[in-house]
Amino acid sequence: MCGIVGYIGTQQAAPLLLEGLGRLEHRGYDSAGMAVLGTGGALRMAKRSGRVRDLAEEVPARFGGKVGIGHTRWATHGPATDANAHPHADAAGRVAVVHNGILDNASALRAMLTDDGIELASDTDTEVLAHLVARSGADTLEGRVADALAAVEGTYGLAVVHADFPDRIVVARNGSPLIIGVGDKEMHVASDLAALVRYTTTVAYLDDGEMATVTAQGFTTYRHDTAQLHRTHRDAAPVDVDPSAYEIGEHESFMLAEMLEQPRAAERVLRGRLNERFGTSHLGGLNMDAREIRAIRRVKILGCGSAYYVGQMGASLIEELARIPADAEAASEFRYRDPVIEPDTLYVAVSQSGETIDTLLAVQEIRRKGGRVVGLVNVVGSAIARECDGGIYLHAGPEVAVASTKALTTMFLGFSLLALQLGRVRDLSISDGRRLIEGLLKLPEQIQAVLDTEAELTVVAKRLAEADSLFFIGRVRGFPVAREGAQKFKEITYRHAEAYQTSELKHGPLALISEAVPTVALVPDDELVDRNVAALHEIAARKGPLVVVTHEGVDLGDLAHSSTTQRIDVPRNEKELDPILLTIPLQLLAFHAANHLGLDVDKPRNLAKSVTVE
Ligand code: GLU
Repeated sequence: MCGIVGYIGTQQAAPLLLEGLGRLEHRGYDSAGMAVLGTGGALRMAKRSGRVRDLAEEVPARFGGKVGIGHTRWATHGPATDANAHPHADAAGRVAVVHNGILDNASALRAMLTDDGIELASDTDTEVLAHLVARSGADTLEGRVADALAAVEGTYGLAVVHADFPDRIVVARNGSPLIIGVGDKEMHVASDLAALVRYTTTVAYLDDGEMATVTAQGFTTYRHDTAQLHRTHRDAAPVDVDPSAYEIGEHESFMLAEMLEQPRAAERVLRGRLNERFGTSHLGGLNMDAREIRAIRRVKILGCGSAYYVGQMGASLIEELARIPADAEAASEFRYRDPVIEPDTLYVAVSQSGETIDTLLAVQEIRRKGGRVVGLVNVVGSAIARECDGGIYLHAGPEVAVASTKALTTMFLGFSLLALQLGRVRDLSISDGRRLIEGLLKLPEQIQAVLDTEAELTVVAKRLAEADSLFFIGRVRGFPVAREGAQKFKEITYRHAEAYQTSELKHGPLALISEAVPTVALVPDDELVDRNVAALHEIAARKGPLVVVTHEGVDLGDLAHSSTTQRIDVPRNEKELDPILLTIPLQLLAFHAANHLGLDVDKPRNLAKSVTVE
């Protein structure tokens, strides 16, 4: 979370920083700020709560200078106020720091600084860094930053400028991403490629425990977690990205643009990875041979939020196709229960950004204990991608909207490819493999067919938007779909949406069903269809309005004529692949409900993209 940008070179920094911050705003948007070093080393800061556009109003002419750093905040310590916005400065106003992450020992450090007579200007953990840099007696800015970092515990991506060292920005990373972009007599820094691609696609990624000096001419990296700064060798390399993929195009929001891109994203993740002749998939990055795949006794999938729910869909696929016991767990909990790591379990970490700190820490825990982890990750070169033993890149393209859509779809397809490969090395027949491949190849067109029903879904969405509270229900393959549907709905509409197994409704939550509480029910035409339809009747008998997401031909009985029941049909495919086609209409329902309520779908309240704090 949070966006960091920095610039040093021949141009005025402020407009570039503002532009970069605008591109990172999805990473945190409760406050924004920047610090610029003017000629002669005067340090000027502007910061305020609110959006980047609010900051832009304050910035104009007085912000001359060719070196600067900026930040969009997602508050962890202290509310979103002007004082808590980054950058944070020392008492003399000579050091400015922007920071992404959490300093765990901030309270102790704040107390120590206060005891020493320093008046703290904010409630944040970050501010201590500025004072610690200012107090260090080291000769160089790198030495001072390293001294400060030696005193803090926690996670950070950070950038520091200092009036006494006006020719440089010092950056450091421990748990939160930091990228250096190389230009012509100018350099950029950022927490995310999105801020850089318009200027350069030649970049270097810092590792945890690494820091860098960035001047207009280039950069030098060091390890700072050693007794003395220790030079490391890191080359910048071109990344294969299309800068236009970061643009919103003609659409009103990134979420809509990304939903509509799903057929193409689905084609990309499948491209070159299906082997129709042998009814299997080809996943070169997995780094596992057939013998190793045969030795797998269990699969454990780890992810957070939507990545966790799609992990549950993936676990079903793996159990069904490969007949290996598989389950998914929230990565944010996994590490804290001192998990038993088994050598014959394949661990799978799922993350769009590849920087989700909870998932990254789970990966590190598994590897520390000798387990094997593969990643399902969208962002190439991200921390999780680098930490894993192998993996599948999702090729979804940049995902900017907080509510994940196209990345989630490619995660499901990534799991389908994995399940196919695991299955075919084990007992899945070639004809079943080919059957699945045929189904996968139909998906892009079928996803498009669901997207084409947008007008009808908009009508349903408006009705759902009127409710304060909703249920999303499904069984077996449909249950993770219900969880994802409820998640999407609550994230962007702020309505209370709760997912339940259809079978569990009568064991408690049925008490809440009434005319005012609609239920979105997933009823695919599978082996449970009759049981699911029976549950719908139980809801209707209690006057609960229903939205039934189902397949053409499924007989809903009397409910078909009820004015409080709405039906959404999705195309038929192989039943194992149902979850993804059932998910697409739920995305559109959430999107149009939020739109109807006049909410900013791309920047939902309290959230931000890529959760890089614990
Ligand atoms: N912990 C810092 C704060 O609350 C940084 C949060 C962020 O990553 O934006 O200000």
